[in-house]
Amino acid sequence: MCKRCSWVNLKNEKYIKYHDEEWGRLLTEDDRLYELLILESFQAGLSWECILNKREHFREAFDNFDIDKVSTYGEAKIAELMENPLIIRNRLKIKAAIKNSRIFKEIVKECGSFYGYLRSFAPEIIYEDFTERTTSPLSDAISADLKKRGMSFVGSTIIYSYLQSMGIINGHSEDCMCYRR
Ligand SMILES: [Zn+2]
Repeated sequence: MCKRCSWVNLKNEKYIKYHDEEWGRLLTEDDRLYELLILESFQAGLSWECILNKREHFREAFDNFDIDKVSTYGEAKIAELMENPLIIRNRLKIKAAIKNSRIFKEIVKECGSFYGYLRSFAPEIIYEDFTERTTSPLSDAISADLKKRGMSFVGSTIIYSYLQSMGIINGHSEDCMCYRR
């Protein structure tokens, strides 16, 4: 039997697929990096599994995370999202997603891409399979910079989880079939 990282809920097909095909694989496109950042921010206080189960609903509710569209959302759209039982109805997180999209766009303008921005902090892919770790000096630095730029729900724990998912930090454990792949 194939071994996987111990955190994977083997009863959830979505979670298995996410671990095998997405987690730790390098993501470089701005739209997808934006989507992941927002989903991670919605995770705050909840489990990633909960967010993953709702991901398709989030995509539908947020115009497939089109940064240009989300950045124009106003009060009417916020009210509509607050009425949607299929996503996480948290006003602060919804407002943060909109505000963060504007800052994300500024970073893309400044650095050429969000991936380029992230890589300016981490020239090399980092392999660290410390399961007990939830932050690192790298996530501390990126989190601090994003906060300084005005983003919300981008604490170091969220950013660490983000970097693991988008692949700059590869956290697959040594006994996992995806280890260093
Ligand atoms: Zn793994």
